[in-house]
Amino acid sequence: VLHRLNDDGQEIDSDGKPVKKKPSLKRLASLAKPEFPMISLACLAMLGSSGSQMVAPLFFGKVVDAAQKDMGELNSTVLTLLLIYIGGAICSMVRSWIFTLAGQRVVARLRKNLFSSVIQQEVAFFDTNRTGEICNRLSSDTQVLQNAVTSNMSMLARYLLQIIGSLVLMFVLNASLTGVLLAVVPIVSLGAVQYGRFVKKLRQNFQDRLADAGTTAEESISSIRTVRMFSGETKSVKLYGSDIDKSYSEGKKLAAAQGAFDGTVGMLAYGAIILVLWYGGKLVYENSQDKTKGITPGLLTSFLLYTLQVAMAFALLSSLYGDFMQALGASLRIFDLMDRKPLVSNENGEILPLLDGHVEFKNVFFTYPSRPETPVIKGMNLTVNPGQVVALVGPSGGGKSTIVSLIERFYDPDSGTVLLGGRELSTLDPHWFRQKISMVSQEPTLFACSIKDNIAYGKVATDQEIEEAAKQSNAHEFIMTFENGYETLVGERGVRLSGGQKQRIAIARALIMDPVILLLDEATSALDAESEHLVQEAIDRAMKGRTVIVIAHRLSTVRNASKVIVIEKGEIAEQGTHDELLAHNGVYKRLVLRQLTAGGMNFDQL
Ligand code: ADP
Repeated sequence: VLHRLNDDGQEIDSDGKPVKKKPSLKRLASLAKPEFPMISLACLAMLGSSGSQMVAPLFFGKVVDAAQKDMGELNSTVLTLLLIYIGGAICSMVRSWIFTLAGQRVVARLRKNLFSSVIQQEVAFFDTNRTGEICNRLSSDTQVLQNAVTSNMSMLARYLLQIIGSLVLMFVLNASLTGVLLAVVPIVSLGAVQYGRFVKKLRQNFQDRLADAGTTAEESISSIRTVRMFSGETKSVKLYGSDIDKSYSEGKKLAAAQGAFDGTVGMLAYGAIILVLWYGGKLVYENSQDKTKGITPGLLTSFLLYTLQVAMAFALLSSLYGDFMQALGASLRIFDLMDRKPLVSNENGEILPLLDGHVEFKNVFFTYPSRPETPVIKGMNLTVNPGQVVALVGPSGGGKSTIVSLIERFYDPDSGTVLLGGRELSTLDPHWFRQKISMVSQEPTLFACSIKDNIAYGKVATDQEIEEAAKQSNAHEFIMTFENGYETLVGERGVRLSGGQKQRIAIARALIMDPVILLLDEATSALDAESEHLVQEAIDRAMKGRTVIVIAHRLSTVRNASKVIVIEKGEIAEQGTHDELLAHNGVYKRLVLRQLTAGGMNFDQL
């Protein structure tokens, strides 16, 4: 089924309006479906434990009455009561264990599915959604759902059973006493539900503020180096502090409301019990005057215990209501994300038997979805022929990296086409063609695993292939100086390596793919001379026999390029070889001269 989607990846109807999705209890319950056998077992256990709880008050009453008659009867009744409780305890142990287990299985599955959906979203999705928020969805929202589909559902069933069962038994014991109780219960419960909604809203506000704080903290922590560099600690603490203050001020309201709620519900519940106590006391008094009338003290005891059970179940049910509402909110967010179809789709792409390095832009227009008001590529036409080395140059912000992103199909153009090997990029299988294109960026991102696993990130490789790639990229030697060699862990984002080392590993990671096309973003930041030489040598070696598109900063690169394309404000200002462009006396020459006078870049050996 093909869904029509809008720019946010939401399904839309025939009028182009987003299809409103209701949080559905049915879908929530369907999450628990695969655990049906376990949950059935848990329900059986629940019947047992609820049953024991149901009959226990009856035996309490019997104990009271037996105590007034016969020691033997007292002993046997107490023993029965004890057995009932032991049976109940075993059942509730099984119930709790299995429900929790089932819940954990549900949430584990949910998290996997959700993450798999998240990781397949198009790059633009991550431009607009903060990492912390997405991670929150994975951790806390799923937790809320786990509780909802298991323990909350089981509590709901338990309390309903308890209320209905107790009420039935109470009716059998004494109908008029039950009538008195039933007259007050609806009033109490209605009030509780209404108030519960109010508390729930406060709790939601509190949660939202807390999530904001979490996102703020995540941002600072993940950028600790930048924070340190600019002595931004105080600023971070202040930002986080102000978020926490906001959540605290919501928390204060919540605390007061929750307190008032607990107090009021408790008071009302006890009010109902006192009413039963008074009316029941009256019946016991009548019985003491005339044995054919009223009820025995034992029966009143049973009745009071039932009343307590019903009241407690009601109070807990009302708190469950809040949990369920919270779960519905969480489920809406989770299902939205889980159902989101990536705008740059991966489905039904074609795999070509052979790929040459031909890249072409035909009248390409592009705007970043996160900044819809600023066009970035404006009607671009460019051709890269197989085996060419094409250098992109131009002022920063002109659109060079964007061109590279479009070749990787991180984004789709608004109009026009990007062609790879003569075929429209959007008709090709992205997993396949990304195997054929490798990218080495200025500041390569490594993963927090071993050097070996970083080099073999893009494909399953033998130790020999890994070593060969490392040798090609001038990385082998420094890797061997490490005590653990290729098994050395590089730390989060590769922090344990120097800039030049990281780059050489990134080159090895690209080379092991044996790419047809190499995308390079030359470092602007100066490496030390030795390191720079090794990196450059590795890059030169990597470029051999490949089609290369390089965002160039160095004179030697542009001078040796088959073609230099000057990109300015999203358009091609000039193109040709270095010598042609210099002779032309245009933008390129001015650019080169400006670089020279500014001294910012390496166009310094002209
Ligand atoms: P260059 O590589 O030539 O320095 P870029 O392609 O990085 O230029 O940027 C071109 C324009 O696109 C700039 O104005 C930049 O601010 C904007 N831009 C780059 N990346 C994004 C993004 N992920 N979201 C929104 N705007 C972006």
